[in-house]
Amino acid sequence: MIKNSYSLQDSNVEYLVVGTGPTGATIARELAIAKKNVLIIEKGKWHSEHTLGFPLGIRILDGFGYLSKSIDGTYIGRAITVGGCSMVYNANVFNPTNHIMQALGMDLMPEVTAIRKEIGVSVLPERFFHHCEGGNRLREAAYKMGLTFIPQEKFINPDKCKIGCDWCMLGCKYQAKWTSRAYLKEALQNNATLIHSIGVKKVLFHKQRAIGVLLENNQKLYAQNIIVSAGGIGSAQILLRSGINYAGLSLFIDPMNLVIGYGKDASYGGWKEMTFTHAIESFKETHGFIISNISASYAAIATSLRNQVFLNHLKDLPYIKRGIGLFVKLADTPYGWIRSNGKTCKPLTMIDQHHMKVGTELAKDILQKAGISSKNITVVEMIGGHPGGTAAIGKVVDKSFKTEYDGLYVCDTSIFPESPGIPPTLTLLALAMRFSQRLLGNGR
Ligand SMILES: Cc1cc2nc3c(=O)[nH]c(=O)nc-3n(C[C@H](O)[C@H](O)[C@H](O)COP(=O)(O)OP(=O)(O)OC[C@H]3O[C@@H](n4cnc5c(N)ncnc54)[C@H](O)[C@@H]3O)c2cc1C
Repeated sequence: MIKNSYSLQDSNVEYLVVGTGPTGATIARELAIAKKNVLIIEKGKWHSEHTLGFPLGIRILDGFGYLSKSIDGTYIGRAITVGGCSMVYNANVFNPTNHIMQALGMDLMPEVTAIRKEIGVSVLPERFFHHCEGGNRLREAAYKMGLTFIPQEKFINPDKCKIGCDWCMLGCKYQAKWTSRAYLKEALQNNATLIHSIGVKKVLFHKQRAIGVLLENNQKLYAQNIIVSAGGIGSAQILLRSGINYAGLSLFIDPMNLVIGYGKDASYGGWKEMTFTHAIESFKETHGFIISNISASYAAIATSLRNQVFLNHLKDLPYIKRGIGLFVKLADTPYGWIRSNGKTCKPLTMIDQHHMKVGTELAKDILQKAGISSKNITVVEMIGGHPGGTAAIGKVVDKSFKTEYDGLYVCDTSIFPESPGIPPTLTLLALAMRFSQRLLGNGR
């Protein structure tokens, strides 16, 4: 059931879940299927699937993607919409690394195996790439350098996906990409209630127990348990506004440097390619980065993020089809912070800077060996898409995801004690599954 308002008489709520991203939607689904009384609060609107993609999809990104920056200029990408960042993710699927499972103290592989089977994972078939001359050149150049671009597994149904479309990051209008709206819909079919388009301001307490939440319109809602799953930025903001002032530290964001180049003709570009279809993963353990491909359309969008880069590439805009790029995504040290008003700071340590430099130089080298002149290559620095760490296990929550208050839990990217080192959605789904089953008393 979807409601626009909620009265106190309704409030025999056992679980109030904040957020509908991969974690919130999974938790709501598991609890609703177990016949619990579940209320879900989501700040974003239920943007219609028909209006996603280019260009209107930009409105589901916080600050339209352009205004969401830390005080030191790092972009922090996140979606404020029903479905959270799964609406804008690239749908790449990575198993949790051993180091993150060790840091969490959990073997998540049973849940991972079940989720992979349930949602369905595929590497897109050859027909999605064989026309991509620019991408083929990059892969060949890397191969000659002794590096391998591994085809990526995705939560994408190839039968629904359109060859030549690359708008996953503005929301998929073909419903080819799995998003957490699928789990949310199941929760609603099992009698959960959703209120969207209004955020939670803070949690209400009575002594040592959480008893409800205050919404942005100052309405109070009461529940026996509150589960905060508002993401790496949103959850810390709620906790800080609730007086938990040691939340919001240890922020990581997995920053990316986007290395963009323009070739001498369209055969060097990435026109009608899909971003993040292949990745070099061999530096993951030693340097904490992966390198992957960027299409011509995203190369053009990326150049507009930094003024100087935009000016450098203004002359290339009429030749958009010649654009191509690589991103270097680093697992950064959890060394930043966020304040209750959303202000963030994300410095890189010397080691992070060194690793990012190694990856960026390597990406430039691959582009040059693929025939792009060094004159036409620029770097768009520090674009982050996976904020987390701000309510870390061992610091803000315990191993049962509980805060110091009874009835108040956090489960989302903010509980990671360090960057998982890989795009985290599958790990988060497994974590949310584990957490809900523990709440239901079925926990391992
Ligand atoms: C551009 C981009 C590409 C990505 N690509 C990949 C990929 O290919 N593979 C991968 O595994 N991961 C990818 N990710 C990361 C992945 O999408 C996120 O890590 C994941 O969605 C986080 O899930 P979450 O549930 O923790 O939070 P979110 O998905 O951020 O969900 C949080 C929800 O809470 C809501 N909210 C926030 N504040 C409040 C409030 N005060 N009150 C109520 N609701 C609130 C938000 O609107 C949102 O719906 C990508 C991310 C981005 C931005």
